[in-house]
Amino acid sequence: MSPPWGHTAPRADGTDRGCAAQLDGAKAQGRKRDQSKESKRRSEISLRTAASLRLCVKSPSFRRSLAGWLAGALLALLLWLPLYAQEDGVYTVAPGDTLGVIANRFGVPLDALVQVNAIDDPNRITVGQRLLIPTADGQAPLAAIPTAVRHAAPGDTLAAFAARYGQEAALLAELNGLDSSARLFPGQPLRVPVAGLPATDPLRLGAVTAVEAPAAITQGRTGRVVVTTDRPTALRGTWLDQELVFTPLDETGLRHFALLPAPALQDAGDYELLLGYTTARGQPVDAVWPVAVEAGGYASQQIVIDAATASSMTPEVVRAETTRAIDLWSQVSADLRWQGPFARPIDPQYATTSPFGTRRTYSVSDIGNFHAGQDFGAPEGVLVTAPAEGVVVLAEPLVVRGNAVILDHGRGIFTGYWHLSEIKVAPGQVVAPGDAIGLVGNTGLSTGAHLHWELRINGVAVDPMQFLEESVAGE
Ligand SMILES: [Zn+2]
Repeated sequence: MSPPWGHTAPRADGTDRGCAAQLDGAKAQGRKRDQSKESKRRSEISLRTAASLRLCVKSPSFRRSLAGWLAGALLALLLWLPLYAQEDGVYTVAPGDTLGVIANRFGVPLDALVQVNAIDDPNRITVGQRLLIPTADGQAPLAAIPTAVRHAAPGDTLAAFAARYGQEAALLAELNGLDSSARLFPGQPLRVPVAGLPATDPLRLGAVTAVEAPAAITQGRTGRVVVTTDRPTALRGTWLDQELVFTPLDETGLRHFALLPAPALQDAGDYELLLGYTTARGQPVDAVWPVAVEAGGYASQQIVIDAATASSMTPEVVRAETTRAIDLWSQVSADLRWQGPFARPIDPQYATTSPFGTRRTYSVSDIGNFHAGQDFGAPEGVLVTAPAEGVVVLAEPLVVRGNAVILDHGRGIFTGYWHLSEIKVAPGQVVAPGDAIGLVGNTGLSTGAHLHWELRINGVAVDPMQFLEESVAGE
């Protein structure tokens, strides 16, 4: 029973199907292909083809009963003309044939016929033997290209399949007897030139044609995955139990990125990035990428809080404030409001006094166990500005964070500004990069005037300084 796709010319020559499938179906003549690629391919044609060809002819399945052979011969006679037309590049030796007759019939050089088929003795050919017919200029036909079978993934088009395997779609169409615009069935076997195959099997993720994911992300840093699809696709993903937020990278609608925040306290080790989508027919398509988390080499410090301050930091107060913040920065707003690097939120003369990620032990409980932001030492009253466009989602005094501002930059990315002496914005206000949002102060749980700058991605605190250096959200 033939599969409902691909090239399935009637077979009457007595060779077994597995063998024939490797050889026929190609059109050696009348091809319009790039000449340089053509010659390159030909130079890659290996002796393996000839070897497997001989192996096929001698295989036990070739030895049929006399009745079978006669039936086959009769059928071959009936199908003589169609076979001629359908099996360009391959010819099955008939009774009375000699190599000279065959060469003459196809108008090809006898030498080339002998060479392409690796024939030792030109006087000995067998009825039923399948010969590769060289082109008129003596080159090996397409059918001589060594191929391996690979299978289509759900949703594959020939173009997507070809792109995944680094092949020309037109060549794959010819090799497999398909129309170049063909849609493929999930699991459909396709012959792919061995020479072009990548060492490891490429992505098999349907509409997804490329995934650029980091091999490793340092604790507290932000990685990013870029996914390219061959059609608009609602992607989903999971990284360290967080749902990924995919955002278009350009106008095509075919490239999306998602940020991969690595929590500062995540154990170093190997983790999995899960990517997928659901097809129009409701079939889930998923694949997993290994992404490691590497140690950030963060220092440790002990923070001593005076008794008066500590007494105001009851666990209930701390928890209520944290819950409030989490409620805000777990939102994902529709539009990304910036691209490119962030601007520094304070004048460059004010240097880092305590970097992100330092492991901290507090003399009061429930405050946290690492430094979730970046501190800039500055006198009270120094201007604090927005690093990028954002919407003010919080602007009020808090117990631990003091006078606080939180900006929503879109797609689950937020920045926070704590311990301000004065707040200069109101909730709902849209700020542009460089706009004043407050003044440095020493309010809340603070041991001296400074700006604490915090950045959250889907609620995960990451090093904001990376956003000054890199275009994390753009091209
Ligand atoms: Zn801080």
